Amino acid sequence: MPDTLRVAFLGLGHMGGPMAVNLARAGYQVTGFDVVQAALEAAEAQGIAVAGSAVDALAGADVVLTMFPSGRHVLDAYTGAGGEPGLLATARPGTMFLDCSTINVEEAREAARLAIEAGHRSVDAPVSGGVVGAEAGTLTFMAGGDDADFEAVRPLLEVMGKRAVHCGGHGAGQAAKICNNLILGVSMIAVSEAFVLGEKLGLTTNCPVPGPVPTSPANRDYQPGFASALMAKDLNLAVNALNGTGVAGEMGALAAHIYDRFAAEGGAGRDFSAIITEIRRASGKPAWDAASGEPPRGESPGKHSTTAHDDGSPE
Ligand code: NAD
Repeated sequence: MPDTLRVAFLGLGHMGGPMAVNLARAGYQVTGFDVVQAALEAAEAQGIAVAGSAVDALAGADVVLTMFPSGRHVLDAYTGAGGEPGLLATARPGTMFLDCSTINVEEAREAARLAIEAGHRSVDAPVSGGVVGAEAGTLTFMAGGDDADFEAVRPLLEVMGKRAVHCGGHGAGQAAKICNNLILGVSMIAVSEAFVLGEKLGLTTNCPVPGPVPTSPANRDYQPGFASALMAKDLNLAVNALNGTGVAGEMGALAAHIYDRFAAEGGAGRDFSAIITEIRRASGKPAWDAASGEPPRGESPGKHSTTAHDDGSPE
């Protein structure tokens, strides 16, 4: 690969936008593209050179980096959909296809197979660390692919993240990622249940979410961050993998069901930590004033014992 890589960065959303900015700041020649005009304009305002189409972004590119919502988006973009030319047919031979989206293991293997069949190279490298990590360049990449291809993309990954782990062959990065998010999704529900329970039992005078971490989505009305629709998708990827491998993952299946329901009932575009608002609602607790982080009206600090004892119990 040449010293100064030319990167076509496709998908400039919550994660892709700041990742592209970090690559450009590190000296890579980045050309961005997103199907959503607002994302394109936001990237341009951050100093990213943008193209009017994916084909234009690919001109002269050594690396095609995709950061899309799902595997369907990746495979459609690779092969062409809706009259759009496919990226695999557009790129010059030997281009590195680096997919950082979180997608199904099987889809990642299919994407790699198609890329290699078309004469290209392929690495799947999903990330953990969220938008904060994307902005700070502190993401962790979990990569799948050949040794040489991983080594070729490692410098890019180390610009956008603080750690890049080679997990194995094609799809292994996705496997590591969904195991990671299985833990994250189940944990978020458990933590949220515990916060609401603690509040009901009078443990707190001011529930710690929102509040203690000023940068957390809870302090901005749960704007993502990491959208609940994406967590639902990832948990369903984990459930597919659990079922496919015969693992009895009941917690994972329940967490997927809970996030599916939350997304379907209006939470899709909210940060995944907003699951606590649903647990509060279902527990008969009013919503917070998320903007101020204040407890709900009628629940002044120090008076939470009234809520705690709603069931009439003295302790
Ligand atoms: P997002 O929806 O904000 O961004 C995805 C972007 O891809 C959108 O702007 C969309 O318009 C664009 N896009 C879709 N198809 C396209 C195409 N064919 N060409 C160009 N652009 C296209 O999502 P996000 O939060 O940035 O997440 C991206 C991926 O990263 C997802 O797979 C998600 O699961 C994963 N992820 C997200 C987080 C997080 O905290 N948000 C953390 C880790 C991993």
